[in-house]
Amino acid sequence: MTREDLAEILDEIAILLELKGENPFKIRAYRSGGETVRQYPGDIASLAREGELQGIKGLGDALQQKLHELASTGKLDYYDKLKGEFPETLFDLFGIQGLGPKKIKAVYEALGVDSIPRLKELCESGEIAELSGFGKKTAEKILEAIAFKEENADRFRLGDVASSVMMIIDALKQHPDCLRAEAAGSFRRAKETVHDIDFLVASSQPEALIEYFVDQEWVSRIIAQGATKASINLENGLQCDLRVVSNDEYACALAYFTGSKEHNVAMRGRALERGYSLNEYRLAVKEGADAEAPPVFETEDELYQFLGLDYVPPEMRENTGEVEAASEGDIPELVKLENLRGTFHNHTTASDGQNSLREMAEAAIDLGLQYLGIADHSKSSFQANGLNESRLRSQISEIASLNSEYKTQGQNFRLIAGNEVDILKDGSLDFDDELLDELDYVVASVHNAMTLSESDMTDRIIRAVQNPRVTMLGHLTGRLLLKREPYAVDVAAVIEACAETRTIIELNCSPWRLDMDWRWWKFAKEKGVKCSINPDAHRASSLEYLWFGASIARKGWLTRRDVVNTLTRHEIEAFLDLDPVS
Ligand SMILES: [Zn+2]
Ligand SMILES: [Zn+2]
Repeated sequence: MTREDLAEILDEIAILLELKGENPFKIRAYRSGGETVRQYPGDIASLAREGELQGIKGLGDALQQKLHELASTGKLDYYDKLKGEFPETLFDLFGIQGLGPKKIKAVYEALGVDSIPRLKELCESGEIAELSGFGKKTAEKILEAIAFKEENADRFRLGDVASSVMMIIDALKQHPDCLRAEAAGSFRRAKETVHDIDFLVASSQPEALIEYFVDQEWVSRIIAQGATKASINLENGLQCDLRVVSNDEYACALAYFTGSKEHNVAMRGRALERGYSLNEYRLAVKEGADAEAPPVFETEDELYQFLGLDYVPPEMRENTGEVEAASEGDIPELVKLENLRGTFHNHTTASDGQNSLREMAEAAIDLGLQYLGIADHSKSSFQANGLNESRLRSQISEIASLNSEYKTQGQNFRLIAGNEVDILKDGSLDFDDELLDELDYVVASVHNAMTLSESDMTDRIIRAVQNPRVTMLGHLTGRLLLKREPYAVDVAAVIEACAETRTIIELNCSPWRLDMDWRWWKFAKEKGVKCSINPDAHRASSLEYLWFGASIARKGWLTRRDVVNTLTRHEIEAFLDLDPVS
């Protein structure tokens, strides 16, 4: 039982208790217990196993006992019984956007809805609409959410698969007969969601590698197993395909299995023009063509060169002009993770974050960042404990005193005082200009009234960015990947407005968002709009989302110069016109 396993079970108990209509204090105890487990600085899983949780703030006796039972036996009687009170398919309803425990409880009790198909049926028959607190609009919304979920079944967010991919690559590389190993496919291209993962290994012993791969403890099902390829499912359902090729075939195979299909078509066309055929294993002289025999390619780079192209970074291989650019020597030098010197838009316990200002700062320093922009929620985001004027002012002074402390210690680090200010329905901002002037920077974001028409939403956002105090626009479309569609908005018009007002657009790199979408960045860059890669971190560990941000920025063809948080601390101080730390 890991820390996360323990925390997740406490979360689930909270939901089950809510479904049962138990008292809110009990529910809250489990919910905050889950958070305590996630945040505890020591090795809480071992402490729980040893029964040594006494004195940990936020864990009462009952919770301590349950954690001990779970950690030492791997099971919890109380949880199993509680779960047994409900049909298993009921839990699928939690995956439907807009259906919280309260609504699920209502449909379950009033109409016996205990599965997604049943819910769909009763939405269509009109019975859900008649339920008090629901109505026709809600029923329609639920149907849309079900359709969205069905469309996206078997897809995974990049952030949900990254750690499994790293683990599998590490395991493959440990095999003595593995010469090279990589994840290819959409993962390597940094697509925001993926359907499966393609692993590629170079080895002269393919069967040994295949045996080893399907025999790992994380394999929950073997879908297919052959002499040079195998497919398995992980426990979460993610399909992983392994293909083993010879070392001489590796470069061509890596290019082929990285795709995209459209990029490969363009590459094959390029090869044909030169008298070659290109397949998943090699480049060969086309029958009857008068061309020199190609060498064995050690790397993808050599293959591209041979076809008269500059190397195309995998993230760019979507056939959106990269082959032409490569033939003209116009592949931009893409931004890299290590170019990021700081970042903006991060939350603390002052609003809905899980770590204090100081903890967030320390995590940023540990990552080697020189500055960290704080942006807690503003007062209208009351569901996220948004700050009112006086709480924001006291946060500004808390930041100033922490900054003096870092200065005294000689740290090259600074917290930057900002706020994620709600864009209200009419496009005005949640704080007046006087208070916004006291901040170092401002992120403006839409968090409510997301059902406006496209033109109203577009006007609303454009009005917000026209306020010169707005430094950057947060999560432009409001999408939650695989969960919530973007709201209706004319992205091109917003980009043009930001170009005119010199407003930065955020690349929100929470793996739930990855918003603005990579498909728009090339256009934004042409318009001269700058990007800020922001993790929207609600806990210290989420600063690592910058990894996804750098990948998506590369996918959007962005260079170091296009991304403001590649600036050093001193450069950013000048850029934002900040006073020196006193
Ligand atoms: Zn936000
Ligand atoms: Zn945020």
